[in-house]
Amino acid sequence: MKTWKRYRELLGVGEWHIHTRYTDGHNTIEEYCQKATDLGVPLIAFTEHVRRDLDYDFNAFLADIEEARDTFDLIILSGCEAGILPGGGLNVPEWILREVDYPIVSFHAFPCDIKLYIHSLIACFRSAHVNTWAHPGAFLNRFNLALMESEIVAILKEMAKRDIALESNRKYAVPEDLWIELAARYCVPIVRGSDVHTVEDLSTV
Ligand SMILES: [Zn+2]
Ligand SMILES: [Zn+2]
Repeated sequence: MKTWKRYRELLGVGEWHIHTRYTDGHNTIEEYCQKATDLGVPLIAFTEHVRRDLDYDFNAFLADIEEARDTFDLIILSGCEAGILPGGGLNVPEWILREVDYPIVSFHAFPCDIKLYIHSLIACFRSAHVNTWAHPGAFLNRFNLALMESEIVAILKEMAKRDIALESNRKYAVPEDLWIELAARYCVPIVRGSDVHTVEDLSTV
C-alpha cells in the first residue's frame, strides 16, 4: 500500500516535501522536527534529492530520521525526490526506492518534448514505490508549454488507477486550478508539498 494512504487525513495539513542540508536545504532533520513541533504540523516527509550516482551518505540521512523519531512526537517519513528520465525510468538507486516511506517523482532536466513527457510520466507511475507526482506542470511552465485537457485527464486517470497523489506545491505555485478540479473529478488525492528548503518555509495550512 502507498504510504500516503495510511495518513490520508493528513494530506492537507502535513508537510510532504522537505529538503535538508544533505542536499540543497538549509536546515537539519532535527531543526525541521523542532519547528514542526513548535508549529503543530503533525507529519513531515523528508523527500531528499537523489540521483543514481549519489554524492552523499543516504544511510546517514536515514539514521538521522530514525534518531528524530525517538526524540519527537511527530509522524516523520523518510522519502526521496527522484527525477523522471526519458522513457519513464527514475534517477535513483533501486534500493532507495524500496527503503524509503515516501518516494516522489518530478521533472527537472528533461527534453522539451510533450509526447515524451507524457509517455515517461505515465510509464514511471508503474513503479509500485512511487507515491506522488511533485510540482506537477512546473517543468512545462518553465518552457511555456501546456497540456491539453484531454492529456491532463489521461494522466489523472492513470494516477487514479495507480494510487498516485498530485502535489500542490507552493514554491512553484502549481498545479493550475483546472488540474485541481479535474483531480477531484477523477478521484486523485491532492497532497500539500511546499518544497521546503528552510525552517522558515514550514507552516501550518
Ligand atoms: Zn523538484
Ligand atoms: Zn523538491
